[in-house]
Amino acid sequence: MLSVPVPVPVAGAGAGAARGAGSLPRRRAMCSGVGCFWALLSAGLLAACAAAFLSPAWLLPPGRAAGGFGLLWRCAGPPRGCHGSAGPGGFGDIPSGSWQTSAVLCAGGCALLALSSLLAIVAVLLPGGACERRVCTLAGYMQTAAELLKSMTSSSVVDKPPVRRVAIFGGTHGNELSGVFLVKHWQENGAEIQRAGMEVKPFLTNPRAVKKCTRYIDCDLNRVFDPDNLGRTVVEDIPYEVRRAQEINHIFGPKGSDDAYDLIFDLHNTTSNMGGTLILENSRDDFTIQMFHYIKNALAPERCPVLLIEHPSLKYATTRSVAKHPVGVEVGPQPQGVVRADILDKMRKIVKHGLDFVQLFNEGKEFPPCTIEVFKIMEKVDYPRNKNDEVIAIIHPKLQDQDWQPLKDGDPLFLTLDGEVIAYKGDCTVYPTFINEAAYYEKNQAFVKTVKMKLTAKHIRSSVLGQNTT
Ligand SMILES: [Zn+2]
Repeated sequence: MLSVPVPVPVAGAGAGAARGAGSLPRRRAMCSGVGCFWALLSAGLLAACAAAFLSPAWLLPPGRAAGGFGLLWRCAGPPRGCHGSAGPGGFGDIPSGSWQTSAVLCAGGCALLALSSLLAIVAVLLPGGACERRVCTLAGYMQTAAELLKSMTSSSVVDKPPVRRVAIFGGTHGNELSGVFLVKHWQENGAEIQRAGMEVKPFLTNPRAVKKCTRYIDCDLNRVFDPDNLGRTVVEDIPYEVRRAQEINHIFGPKGSDDAYDLIFDLHNTTSNMGGTLILENSRDDFTIQMFHYIKNALAPERCPVLLIEHPSLKYATTRSVAKHPVGVEVGPQPQGVVRADILDKMRKIVKHGLDFVQLFNEGKEFPPCTIEVFKIMEKVDYPRNKNDEVIAIIHPKLQDQDWQPLKDGDPLFLTLDGEVIAYKGDCTVYPTFINEAAYYEKNQAFVKTVKMKLTAKHIRSSVLGQNTT
């Protein structure tokens, strides 16, 4: 059905004379066979597509239309309790956003099919030649596009369990103060983060590091949520953060189990000029991608980049990874041990929109398929160092603060104190981020290279409500 139709030659006077009388009947037969079949098939498809817009109320006597569905069917009751048709309705009467999207996409598909049918009929009637061949090819392409549009409307809805248990982590790094201040505030007064039908728990993950205003006491808490550390026997000299990781895993996990929290926002600051960044761990997590899509739209026109840390060697065992849906919130630039009002406000808005999304999802709102742009982590780049492992060149002023901006072959990266410029060498454009992050000097990382890509999430809805209505 999706194949491009075979051009249907119709005998023109010149062509017929040149090829001789013997070939004429065969070409006529092709015209009446393939061409007409194609035209009929196109018209049939158009009729089938258009049937989706029929309203039962147009066909049946008043009062007998209940139970039938058409894309313009009008709901007589509340959106989740449509029990009867109130007759033909308009676009505004369609009870849900996803239904409206389906109507628009299906209408687009019908329009393309109508044009395709018209072209197929023209192809049958017109004399043969290159022009006709192009018309046929075009009709084929248009039918393919119409089918794609139709398939988008029928893409299956994925039922996801409601998100009832949510935690907001602050102080995973004790000197990243926006999250520390927000979590402490919400522990005193949580009205701002409470939502109906959900438990939202603000939690200070590394209180000893917070008290000392340092990144960590013994080791980085945001790197130890791997099976080895979580399963380690507790002995006297076990690092504080490993013991703490086990406690957190006990309260909010166990990681990877059904009992784990549904969603954890982990609040971080960076000294890099990354703005309000969302960190995604799994490119197939439809729920989290849908949430990021919602947050990005809510914050527009302000940018809200998404960093995807899915990588065989660069992905790390984060604190938030205890949850089924881990969300990293990384806002900067802000120096360590400092709290800035603008950065705190950006973080607060991201959490608010994230919680709003969860509430809408739990209340039964459906989220049609969406696509977001993400920056996928590819490689970390260290500072140039001497044989004693000391840094010998600093971030070039033209790279400083240029997080998420394209970096091309020949662009300056580092500058030595003698004034020598070290340039980027690479075939493809990359997008650096975490540029000159203070905490990463010890991790031998001057910045990370990312590449831009698109991620698509499926149509989702809450499974409990989905089952109630079907
Ligand atoms: Zn951090």
